[in-house]
Amino acid sequence: LKGEKETLTRDDREMERALRPLSFSDFTGQEKILDNLKIFVSAAKMREEPLDHVLLHGPPGLGKTTLSNIIANELGAGIKITSGPVLDKPSDLAGLLTNLQPHDVLFIDEIHRLNPIVEEYLYSAMEDYKIDILLDSGPNARTVQIGLNPFTLIGATTRAGLLTSPLRARFGINARLEYYDAKLLTSIIKRSCAILKTPVEDTAAFELARRSRGTPRIANNLLRRTRDFAQVKGGGVITVAIAEMALAALDVDHNGLDDMDNRILSTIIEKFKGGPVGLSTIATAVGEEAETIEEVYEPFLIQEGYLKRTSRGREATEKAYSHLGIIPKYRAG
Ligand code: ADP
Repeated sequence: LKGEKETLTRDDREMERALRPLSFSDFTGQEKILDNLKIFVSAAKMREEPLDHVLLHGPPGLGKTTLSNIIANELGAGIKITSGPVLDKPSDLAGLLTNLQPHDVLFIDEIHRLNPIVEEYLYSAMEDYKIDILLDSGPNARTVQIGLNPFTLIGATTRAGLLTSPLRARFGINARLEYYDAKLLTSIIKRSCAILKTPVEDTAAFELARRSRGTPRIANNLLRRTRDFAQVKGGGVITVAIAEMALAALDVDHNGLDDMDNRILSTIIEKFKGGPVGLSTIATAVGEEAETIEEVYEPFLIQEGYLKRTSRGREATEKAYSHLGIIPKYRAG
């Protein structure tokens, strides 16, 4: 339920694909970003130019991959998909770049994890649609420059702060995806239910939405599991009672926090007097990677007002205390 792709089974992955919106009109929310992208895509098409390079950032599961596919569809172009850690050496990237058709999209997920040598190689490709290729080795080694078809790079990252400034500067379009409110997630859940031919009560859709950590991927994951409960324990219809049953079984609490969210908060409060406490200390105490806490859990806890980031570390807020039913002791400072 983390919002991580790796935890999905194959069935889940197939369903995720079936639920993925394919056009701008199918995509819910992120209105400002969408309005801008529609203009930029139309303008590029009118001028018969490639779209400027696009950087999409924000927490996992908010629609960066989905939006990249939509941009390619709307451009009427093809898309090649890869990710930062997969591109080991410049030749891996060269292979992809030289196979792009004019105005195609190259999507690089987790672009903050590019190997620096590969990243540097990307600069001339992005700027001039040219790359240097090394031919031969030893005394005969020489580089030749080859031209590429004009293309659009779409980079996605959960950590825009980790991008080097030369790379960041090469993106003409930069968009930060925000968490979705319960109303938007309700319509995403209803859309998914229609595709899955699963009847759902409005109030049940809202309950699932409200407890999905503002994230469409989590909303769809919860829906899949709730659908199983509806099938086995109900008459196939997702009612509020069925939704409550599924959410309880999945350890999603009444405010929509999951097990790890609650562990992070109770650890800070119970073991570290409410903080401030460093990220790596929290990570060790709850048995999760610091990176995952920083990218997946913390942004939501901060946005919802359970956690504060200070220069001295993370602090639990009054809201965190009352959520866990703990009375704050007097804290000096
Ligand atoms: P990211 O790349 O940001 O991690 P994805 O694009 O893979 O996120 O989105 C995860 C899933 O959530 C997709 O399969 C898609 O079905 C769903 N999704 C994301 N954004 C939306 C949206 N705005 N409307 C409907 N479904 C969405």
